[in-house]
Amino acid sequence: MKAHVLVQPGQLEFREVPTPSPDGDGVVVRVHAALTCGTDLKTFLRGHPKFALPMLFGHEFAGEVAAVGADVEGLREGDAIMVAPTAPCGTCYYCVRQQENLCPQVMPTMVHGAYAEFVKLPGAVVRTNLYEKPLSLPYRDAALLEPLACVEHGLSFVSSRPDDTAVIIGGGAITLLHVQSLRARGVEDIIVVARNPRRAAEARTLGVEVLVADAREAGEQVRQRTEGRGADLVVECTGDVEVWQAAVDLARVGGQAVLFGGCPSGTEVRFPTDRLHYDQVQVISPFHFTPRDVRRAYDLLVAGEVAGATVIGGEHALEDLPAALEALRAGGGPKFAILPNGAGNGTRNGRHNSE
Ligand SMILES: [Zn+2]
Ligand SMILES: [Zn+2]
Repeated sequence: MKAHVLVQPGQLEFREVPTPSPDGDGVVVRVHAALTCGTDLKTFLRGHPKFALPMLFGHEFAGEVAAVGADVEGLREGDAIMVAPTAPCGTCYYCVRQQENLCPQVMPTMVHGAYAEFVKLPGAVVRTNLYEKPLSLPYRDAALLEPLACVEHGLSFVSSRPDDTAVIIGGGAITLLHVQSLRARGVEDIIVVARNPRRAAEARTLGVEVLVADAREAGEQVRQRTEGRGADLVVECTGDVEVWQAAVDLARVGGQAVLFGGCPSGTEVRFPTDRLHYDQVQVISPFHFTPRDVRRAYDLLVAGEVAGATVIGGEHALEDLPAALEALRAGGGPKFAILPNGAGNGTRNGRHNSE
């Protein structure tokens, strides 16, 4: 089969590689849609501390079961499926405490290789984080399961009310997913703070108020909008240390700040202790997802609460992945759908790439 292999940072090779065959308890999936993500772009440009190169590439995908291991029950060739590409062990210290996202097995066993005709899933992933895809859900929307599970994980720590004001900082796909996920929780007053005017315009299409501003300079406007209090909930989606600091500053007394975007390894952050203690701002920086988060993400997608067209800016054939990455680097997207087996699944219903 044809697959993209990330040989070293900046060097992607589109090669013939052996078509995988399933383990006894695993399956092989024919990929119908794989989505680009910010992590892909970062990994392509500079590598990733948790991933060894060379590697097969791409981790957000949905497709159709192409081959089934002898011990797999309940799945057949041809079944349409969606999947979040990791699985916890289920028995370690963290797993028994319901912190499966922190299980040491999660990251080393992550499935890569969605930018290929076929991808192989180990049994643990099949048993834990694989769902049958309803016919009504396009493959490219179903491929949002993983990023949406990460969003759900962060929000699982938040106690929101319908009368809350939420501020979401950043302009990428993760911001747009947070908007939709918060709405599904009944939060209507959502302000997006985005620096890039084009990103701001994309957020506006969701009907939210957008401040085109640097988060470090948005305090005055956010306080004006909230009777001087600050936001009940702030979600940071940039992975920039200074924006982490700004996020805590934008929260009201007794409010919550979700610092979603991972910052570069080794960086440090400073907050005034007053904000955490006397102002009792609760801060959480969520990592990855648990099987419960995947379930909630699945439910949101199936219910149509989150739509692919809001974050997927265009579609590309498999061989055109480099062009999609280049467009991402130039600020396009915020996501692109790569369709390794053609577009024959009735999913061309979204916004199209206009760059
Ligand atoms: Zn991703
Ligand atoms: Zn575990």
